[in-house]
Amino acid sequence: MLKNFSANKYLIAFLVIAAVIGLDIFGRRGSDSAPATVPEIPQIQSTEKRAKPAEMNFSEFLSAATAGKIATATINNNEATGTMKDGGAFKAQIVYDAAMLKQLGKSGVSITIDNSTGLWERLGVVVPIVLMVLFIFLILRGPRMAGGGLGGVTQMTITRGNSVPNKSKITFKDVAGIEDAKKEVSELVDFLKRPAEFSKLGARLPRGVLLSGAPGTGKTLLARAVAGEANVPFFSSSGSEFSGILVGLGVSKVRELFKLAKQNAPCIVFIDEIDAIGQKRGKGLMSDHDREQTLNQLLIEMDGFENNSGIIVIAATNRPDILDSALLRPGRFDRQVYIELPDKDGRRDILKIYAEKLKLDGSVDLDVTARGTSGFSGAELANLMNEAALLAVRRKSKTVSAKDLDNARDKILMGPEKSIKMTDNDKKLAAYHEAGHAFLSVHYRDLSDPILKATIIPRGRALGMVQHLPKDEKRSLNLAEIRATLSIYMAGRAAEEVFLGKDKITTGAMADIAAATNLARHAVAQAGLSKKLGMIALNETVGGWGGMSRRENVSDKTAELLDAEIKSLIDKAYGDSVKVITKSKPKVKKLADELLKRETLSAAEINKILGIKS
Ligand code: ADP
Ligand code: ZN
Repeated sequence: MLKNFSANKYLIAFLVIAAVIGLDIFGRRGSDSAPATVPEIPQIQSTEKRAKPAEMNFSEFLSAATAGKIATATINNNEATGTMKDGGAFKAQIVYDAAMLKQLGKSGVSITIDNSTGLWERLGVVVPIVLMVLFIFLILRGPRMAGGGLGGVTQMTITRGNSVPNKSKITFKDVAGIEDAKKEVSELVDFLKRPAEFSKLGARLPRGVLLSGAPGTGKTLLARAVAGEANVPFFSSSGSEFSGILVGLGVSKVRELFKLAKQNAPCIVFIDEIDAIGQKRGKGLMSDHDREQTLNQLLIEMDGFENNSGIIVIAATNRPDILDSALLRPGRFDRQVYIELPDKDGRRDILKIYAEKLKLDGSVDLDVTARGTSGFSGAELANLMNEAALLAVRRKSKTVSAKDLDNARDKILMGPEKSIKMTDNDKKLAAYHEAGHAFLSVHYRDLSDPILKATIIPRGRALGMVQHLPKDEKRSLNLAEIRATLSIYMAGRAAEEVFLGKDKITTGAMADIAAATNLARHAVAQAGLSKKLGMIALNETVGGWGGMSRRENVSDKTAELLDAEIKSLIDKAYGDSVKVITKSKPKVKKLADELLKRETLSAAEINKILGIKS
């Protein structure tokens, strides 16, 4: 059936090309065969053909005409050809305008206007059109279209040449860490397995489910698992695929998708990035009209289902806030499931799934890895395991060690290790900077997360770092903890100042300052931790368009106060760091020296150097 479809496409393209050329040919013949003639006299062919036409410039032509020497003239754009009264032929370059024509008419010249264009000019118009049609045609086929077909919609579903997509072999046991979401969609499985039973009970059956959540949290995976559990076909597409370069392409793609779905019900239709077609009016890249048409078609298809058609549409987005409300009405995507980033236990469960495919050695504790990967999505955790396996292979080991996992994590977080050689100066700077962070972390160990390690091995854009290992997922911080964390952030710069001098401080603390500012801002603007500002939520969203912050309900005066409070928190933290480091200068120096010597220090090593029992 797909073969037919692409054959159709060829035919359409051919007809379009033929039509373009055909039209042009018609136009030409029309003007050639019936030129506008004023007044018509028979042409003297014989003389015209024999003599080579005399060439004239415009003024020669005009004076010949006013002198009554010209018998006939055929004007084609800026060229006039014809015969003189004496029988000779002429050819002249002219400026074509109405006044000139009048003049010629008065002089008794028989004028023929020829509007046809020359062959080359003709090709000049036709060739680009043909090329353009070919180009569009080739894009439509696309490099990914090896299986044939129009767009991405069918491409994924029918790659193997039959009209039924491969049934998903992914089941719920391949999905971990998002138990709530799993529970919510498990009902769909029952429905897909026994649609008749559901409709007998008179239950209103779900048609559309919207999965929202950060990228890589497993939305696609979960949708596939529903299809796999129910053992029904899975038709997958993406909102961005509906935006074609041809207007109306989205509509036909949606139609095609649902036609396939109806033929294969019960089944799952999955639409990733639904926001690409389903966002509110006036936003997005797709031309608005085209997008609305596509969206309408989707709604029409969904509204048109029989109640027990057995088709469930699952859509995914990481921007549920920008969706058009028409999508969320009853009978459409009226069920919403929010998928959060996995918590510590969730991360451990996801890691376990991927660890089963690898051989881990005794040093690995997935619980520790889960603790050190807060904020990782399922996809990132899968990637972590994969990277660790690659690192193990690279060091020719058959098993993955805790160190491989640690390195893989650093690589994902910060980029690959840099092979650049740091100058001695850079190294010294990094050592003092990281020693500062490490010392303050130990100093405030009761108020902050324990250290994992400190290193001056450069990675990504960082010259070094101190990593922490959260004990458990903290959902809130108290003011003392925020102050301590801010001091730890600022301790890198503070150590630079204390050891290298005020004018030697560097740009190396950029990321620290950004992190501190974010935390301080959150504390005063959202958490109500500033006495001066009090407990009002200042709806300030950072990271809108172009990373600008957007203030919604903040007066200018409050905004000023907010900035002042943030600055005061950070200044205080910096002052605190300088004080702590100055007081324990020899200890911090010892840490820096050891870092220079060994490049990486574990938490245990740091504690030993500082004489603290861990
Ligand atoms: P999304 O659609 O939310 O962007 P995906 O479902 O495409 O995320 O996830 C990409 C990959 O990451 C999956 O194929 C799977 O390998 C892994 N992954 C993501 N979330 C999970 C999870 N909860 N459990 C297991 N693996 C996951
Ligand atoms: Zn730093």
